Amino acid sequence: MPFRFQFVKSLVISLQNIEFNHYSGYNQIVPLRWIRTGFGRNICRRPLFICNCGRSVIKLYFQYGSLKCRRCAHAVYASQVCDKHTRPILQALRLETFLKLKSYMGQRNRRRLTARIPKTHSRRLDSKRLSHHMIQLPHSNYSTRGAMHWR
Ligand SMILES: [Zn+2]
Repeated sequence: MPFRFQFVKSLVISLQNIEFNHYSGYNQIVPLRWIRTGFGRNICRRPLFICNCGRSVIKLYFQYGSLKCRRCAHAVYASQVCDKHTRPILQALRLETFLKLKSYMGQRNRRRLTARIPKTHSRRLDSKRLSHHMIQLPHSNYSTRGAMHWR
């Protein structure tokens, strides 16, 4: 059978995780979560991959040397397609959205993050590739506590 994953040299599979030995030398361990699907006689167990971000997913994507879930892949992709003009706009949009979504955040964090908003004249991302609403959502918790309930 032809090996489908051309970026991995070998796989070590156990019930708890899959170890991907990438050609780059990177040894990525992806934990698994087992779920039950089906009803009655047709119950079966299937594994979900647990991405670095904590999401359990059916599918992982290979991007920039490692495997990640769709959302993480999309987030990395967005900052890669940015250039020096659009990157500060994206950062500003994400921070402003973060401050809006996390309305219960303390004053100290609010001041700290407000100070980090890049001073850009524009708030527009014209690129079609960056206009997807998920891209403009904050992807990190910016060192504050509490759930990122929008994710
Ligand atoms: Zn992820």
